[in-house]
Amino acid sequence: MDWAIGIDLGGSHVTAATVDELGNVGDRFHRDLTSLEPKHVVSAMEDVFKKARKTLGKRAVRTVGVGSPGNIDPHDGIVAFSPNFGWRDVPLADMLAKKLKLPVHLLNDARCATLGEYLHGSGQGTTEFALITIGTGIGGGLVSRGRLLLGSQMGAGEVGHHTIRPDSGFVCGCGKVGCFESQASSTGLIRHALALAPSFPRSRLLTSHRDEDWGTKLIVKALGEGDPHAAAAWERYLDDLSIGLSNIIAFTNPQIIALGGGGGRVDPDVLARPLTALVDARTTMTPKGKTTIVSATLGNDAGAIGAATLARLGGISALTEPLALARVPVKKRRRRGRT
Ligand SMILES: [Zn+2]
Repeated sequence: MDWAIGIDLGGSHVTAATVDELGNVGDRFHRDLTSLEPKHVVSAMEDVFKKARKTLGKRAVRTVGVGSPGNIDPHDGIVAFSPNFGWRDVPLADMLAKKLKLPVHLLNDARCATLGEYLHGSGQGTTEFALITIGTGIGGGLVSRGRLLLGSQMGAGEVGHHTIRPDSGFVCGCGKVGCFESQASSTGLIRHALALAPSFPRSRLLTSHRDEDWGTKLIVKALGEGDPHAAAAWERYLDDLSIGLSNIIAFTNPQIIALGGGGGRVDPDVLARPLTALVDARTTMTPKGKTTIVSATLGNDAGAIGAATLARLGGISALTEPLALARVPVKKRRRRGRT
């Protein structure tokens, strides 16, 4: 079996995973980031990479794939702009390559996750696919005619920052008002619940939980218990989510939209089914009911699996061709890991 190592860089920790050619994860190694200084981050990446490589014994690792937040030019391996890290023009691939003495292929983390889900998860068997990751923000990636869309300046797939509520929406981290991300991320759901709070002064959400418990899980649980405050927040959230998804359908007409991140891991009866009805109602000129909305299947591994796939494909140049040739048969994946 041919193994590759993918590194997924998150806002608070970094993960390296060994991944076989079928997309199965062997081992995972995590390290928390105590500083976002590029040198510190590179040293953490080196640490998890070396631990992962050790598990492969004598099996050769020829390249490394890295998914990183931010606007990234994968041709020169530079993180041009990453607001969460406070980075501008950080030559991340070069810095890591010097430490590891191996070529490093760098790509935006959401695009890496899309690559992973498309080839080894919920996108298998399609040529038109979209991954929307719902967490603190909304990330995404688009596949059309079997190709991962990158755009002229690597900005294709930044669906979280298309505006859906310019007049009445929440302020987004990017500075605009009413972005898809600010309305329909897990943070957006909490904001809907908080905005509705004055109408539900005796809400269980307000009285029986500490602020830090607030999140999709809690609100969905309260929804299941018939809490009217949770129901009202969920209705607004699904409405906003459906606007964004129907826009994506109008732009790229995907066969499947997979919902990833913590916000995607919700019972289909609560999320995908009602959302599909709302999206269909908002789909007009594009044929209705032809896009299936599902939960993504690779969970938190999607980014590392995609990064390892990028390494195996030999980097960004392979992405100009349809990925179908690289597609592998669906196979039961093993779930073992080490932290
Ligand atoms: Zn925004």
